[in-house]
Amino acid sequence: MAASGVRIGLLGGTFNPIHLGHLRAAEEIAEAFALDRVWFVPAGQPPHKDPSPVVSFAHRLEMVRRAAAGRPGFVVSDMEGRRGGPSYTVETLARVRRRIGRRADLFFLTGLDAFLMIHTWHEFRRLFEQAHFVVFSRPGSSPVRMERLLREKVSERYDWRPDLRAYVRPDWNRVYFHRITLLDVSSTQVRGRLARGASIRYLVPEAVREYIESNRLYASVGPEEKGQG
Ligand code: ATP
Ligand code: MG
Repeated sequence: MAASGVRIGLLGGTFNPIHLGHLRAAEEIAEAFALDRVWFVPAGQPPHKDPSPVVSFAHRLEMVRRAAAGRPGFVVSDMEGRRGGPSYTVETLARVRRRIGRRADLFFLTGLDAFLMIHTWHEFRRLFEQAHFVVFSRPGSSPVRMERLLREKVSERYDWRPDLRAYVRPDWNRVYFHRITLLDVSSTQVRGRLARGASIRYLVPEAVREYIESNRLYASVGPEEKGQG
């Protein structure tokens, strides 16, 4: 391989709120793929989500910043919030590419649940020209089913290379499939717990839990009405 440039991962998400599943995925992939940096890019206006339960971009960004603070190599970008309108990954990747230069290796990190919906994303075919993909496991489906579904999505255009554990198409970027420690936590679950006043401790970083609490995010009842303990 030619002298390689810097290796950058990009993890997009609504991060509503960020939780330990996101962070552990970024950590394991950064380690496995020797990434120099992982960019966390909260979605401005997520095109695929019902906007009603999504708290403001400013809150989501701040929670991601607190979650990533102190981990060298984890950086947080507000680029999708500053750009008006819906957040399209194809535009985000183009911007990141302009910023990091042509020589850098760019890896787009996505959980399998998100990847399996990729054909619904804006100009999704272009995404495969913009970055390598690292698709990682997520609780909910068996690993066997995951791999089969993944293969069905890309195999017409890619060849599976067991030695690389990647789908490869000559002159194109690769699609890696990577198994990570399965942490069965989701933002939906965290919001649900908050709405009924249940604990979210150890599902999100402590700094995020404190931020949620002090800003009373996701609570459906006011603190006065909430029971003690
Ligand atoms: P929601 O429940 O609101 O959809 P979420 O927990 O799925 O939230 P997202 O912001 O939708 O979080 O996800 C961003 C990215 O992180 C996606 O690629 C998703 O697959 C991945 N991801 C989310 N939770 C986990 C988890 N527990 N383990 C591995 N990957 C995860
Ligand atoms: Mg999700």
